[in-house]
Amino acid sequence: MTIEKNEYIMKLVQHKNSNKQIYLDYAAATPVDSRVLKAMSVFFNDKYGNPSAIYEQGLIAKTAVEESRKSVAKILGTVPGTVCFTSGGTESNNLAIFGALDGLTPGHIITTPIEHPSVLEPIIKLKKQGLKGKYWNVSYLNVGSNGLVNADDVIKLIRPNTKLISIMYANNEMGSVQPIAEIGKLLVRYRKANKTVYPYFHTDACQAAGFLDLNVERLHVDLLTINGGKIYGPKGSGLLYVRRGVKIDPQILGGKQEHNLRAGTENVPGIAGLSLALKLAQESRVAVSFKLENLSKYFLAKLGESIPSVRLNGPAIGENRLPNNINLLIPEIESEKLLIYLDAAGIACSVGSACAAEDGGASHVLEGIGLSKREAEHSIRFSLGKFTTKQELDFTVKTIKNILNLIK
Ligand SMILES: *Cc1c(COP(=O)(O)O)cnc(C)c1O
Repeated sequence: MTIEKNEYIMKLVQHKNSNKQIYLDYAAATPVDSRVLKAMSVFFNDKYGNPSAIYEQGLIAKTAVEESRKSVAKILGTVPGTVCFTSGGTESNNLAIFGALDGLTPGHIITTPIEHPSVLEPIIKLKKQGLKGKYWNVSYLNVGSNGLVNADDVIKLIRPNTKLISIMYANNEMGSVQPIAEIGKLLVRYRKANKTVYPYFHTDACQAAGFLDLNVERLHVDLLTINGGKIYGPKGSGLLYVRRGVKIDPQILGGKQEHNLRAGTENVPGIAGLSLALKLAQESRVAVSFKLENLSKYFLAKLGESIPSVRLNGPAIGENRLPNNINLLIPEIESEKLLIYLDAAGIACSVGSACAAEDGGASHVLEGIGLSKREAEHSIRFSLGKFTTKQELDFTVKTIKNILNLIK
């Protein structure tokens, strides 16, 4: 690195020290809402009983868990018995996939190439795992250049032995929103016509929960994943909705918690926090979406004025896209380099998905929508949240422009 660059970074670092951090990575983690934190805190030291215990402290904890379950069920438009609390999105996705398919004669699975690794990896494991010489087959839907599946394509891929379809509600990297309700409706019709309960339909709604409708009847899903860490709730909290009649094998064995679906002492503070976070997120989702869509448009317009070469990856803002997601191809600079410079300036954003960041590979999602490896390596994600301001976005645009001038 040249001396001038170091000096530039030093300047940026001084800026960072004198200003507050600009956080534009809400798709990776959100701050816990103060109301959520307050609701959780009593379950750490005051009401700390084990929900399985039958004396008063236990009943208090048990009641908190069951009230949370009721609240979640109401939001999802279902009954409490269908809600299974877990340790997060990853566990819910693993439980949905392995739980639905464990013990079945291997058949066929339909998914997309742009799922979160916690869906992709369990499916890859099933593909490699045989039973009596039979192996699971997997079809990956075409997602086109906007990262969107076509509902009719899903139905066309179904085989007589298709047991599971897993399609994420909204993508974590470039925010594409899939037509889940439309697919669900077609699937209901397919199953009726073919007199079968399969294929089950699972959706990973971790990124969607803050912005989109979660009513499981309108979505016609059988299994739905949500986590707390993406909706201003606690990390390490999550849930899986399991439609009544859908058979799931528990993957964590032990006690009889969560209707025998998930053993282990309940994470009472986490459950209370998740349920309140979900309620608050769903109550404010329309207003928050409106605000963030406007900010996203503003940010993109400002960037375009200042750096004409930038391109938005995925659907246009306002069209089948989460309102807070801006994934940009900036041809002038490798995204990892840009991320480091931005960090020095006190701006946090992300390249690829946080989970993939460690293996250093280019994003499977961006390559999945047809970007070259080089283009994927020049793509960077900004995700806005409740506390994002216009001033922060102005400063971010200015900083990117400065960095590009520097590396010229
Ligand atoms: C974050 C995320 C997950 C994983 O959730 P954890 O709670 O971190 O296990 C799964 N799917 C999507 C779409 C996500 O954004």
